[in-house]
Amino acid sequence: GSCRIHKVFETWTAKHGSKLALVDDKFSIKYGDLGASVEAVAHELEQSGVRAGDRVLLVSENCVVLAVSILAVSLLDAWSATVNARLSPREIENFLTHSGARRALYFSDVSPQAKAHGIQQGAVNVDWPGVGELMIGPLNEAAVPEPVETDGSRQVAAMVYTSGTTGAPKAVMLTHANLLFIGANGCRMRKIAPEDVVYGVLPLSHVYGLSSLLMASLLGGAALHLVPRYQPDVLAHALENDGITILHGAPAMYAKLLEWSEREGKLLRAPALRVAQSGGAPLTLPLKQVFESTFGLSLQNGYGMTEASPSICQTRLDLPRKDCSVGPPIPGIEIRVQGAEDSAEGVGELWVRGPNVMKGYYRAPELTAEAITSDGWLRTGDLARLEPDGTVSIVGRSKELIIRSGFNVYPIEVEQVLNAFPEVVQSAVVGRQVEGNEEVVAFIECTKGMGIDLQALRVHLQANLSPYKMPSEIVVLDQLPAAATGKILKKELQDRAARKVI
Ligand code: ATP
Ligand code: MG
Repeated sequence: GSCRIHKVFETWTAKHGSKLALVDDKFSIKYGDLGASVEAVAHELEQSGVRAGDRVLLVSENCVVLAVSILAVSLLDAWSATVNARLSPREIENFLTHSGARRALYFSDVSPQAKAHGIQQGAVNVDWPGVGELMIGPLNEAAVPEPVETDGSRQVAAMVYTSGTTGAPKAVMLTHANLLFIGANGCRMRKIAPEDVVYGVLPLSHVYGLSSLLMASLLGGAALHLVPRYQPDVLAHALENDGITILHGAPAMYAKLLEWSEREGKLLRAPALRVAQSGGAPLTLPLKQVFESTFGLSLQNGYGMTEASPSICQTRLDLPRKDCSVGPPIPGIEIRVQGAEDSAEGVGELWVRGPNVMKGYYRAPELTAEAITSDGWLRTGDLARLEPDGTVSIVGRSKELIIRSGFNVYPIEVEQVLNAFPEVVQSAVVGRQVEGNEEVVAFIECTKGMGIDLQALRVHLQANLSPYKMPSEIVVLDQLPAAATGKILKKELQDRAARKVI
């Protein structure tokens, strides 16, 4: 059927074929030429032995060729598995083995480590028409193709790995229908149109980039600027000069942009910007407020997870919020807060059901059955409260809840207070087991080149937090460990706190 991601731009091919669809530093492709590019890459892939049902590992940063390749893999009824090019050889090796990919492709700008992995695998340089140079790994003769479904709501388009915040990344199977549902939703909610210019720095290896950037932009006929890696000065320049109308990022990206402007004394300007969207991690109030006063534009908040393609809740453009609520559920899905009735705070686990829910974890039926109930509810593992106005407040992950002397400490609440202190750019709060109890450990990242008065910070915390929520220890780090999306790797910090080698 037409429910396939490689047809996502179809309506624009004739309508405005001369308009740019995808742009990076080296390449740009117009809507009218995109179909031919996708077919050309699909042809090369087919020549290289890729068949329907195969997985293709794409090792790349954001670039035009990566986006075209993801669509080309779909044209062959194969599955793309995109992994970030800055991973270590060991991580790439794990993904290659786990995915059972027929081929691995390494696009030109991969890191030296990724290149080393390719070379060690026996990858060779090729020059594909319309694509340019890339490295292609050996044909995996033993790869077993997955059965092909003709129905786009069952056929897998992409295998996407979770961020690995709480442990090893999990491989999520997302169908064509999953990605197109969220793409169309993003397009509608942001009223994306051919006049729009979208800043695409969120990695396409992550579901947020794949559906909310790539699918939504192409469905809307917008121009998507693909940016290989996040740099605050590059973003500031693009906002000022490139007519960017839509910006997506994790909170860390916004925090680092504002920190950069303050530190360098540079004024931020975004004359064309009309949508600024944060998602993927908790947004904190001080960050939202500084952003809004700087740009005179509301910072939208969206909540989701890889397993939900990713969107679950989203604030509405026409109903700007003053708090960090994630808004109501997106149209067309159902949510419920399991166990809220039994909780004094009205807090329970958020469950979601609808066309955004994944097909399952790859080759892990038990794990899938744990995550999705027999009647289709996905258990998010996140604790939430449903407000009387129908909006949702995320209070944190159940795994990260700290229980201190019988009291619940939600890391997000402590992080909010830490981030309100002027020199704190970002923070992450984790629990540490000590003699049958749990204590609160805070990691903070401060404005570069500025000292921090920890005594004053403690006074600020005491003024804003109950004693049981006070961190037993505050650790200053140059940089909090983060994934390519900017998400903080909490598992690393939990381990670090537990080892006490801080
Ligand atoms: P892993 O599952 O591998 O441990 P992960 O859960 O961080 O990693 P993702 O699927 O990228 O991987 O992230 C989804 C999670 O991010 C959600 O379950 C939630 O905890 C958090 N999250 C996403 N958006 C928001 C938001 N707007 N506010 C608060 N938390 C959010
Ligand atoms: Mg998760």
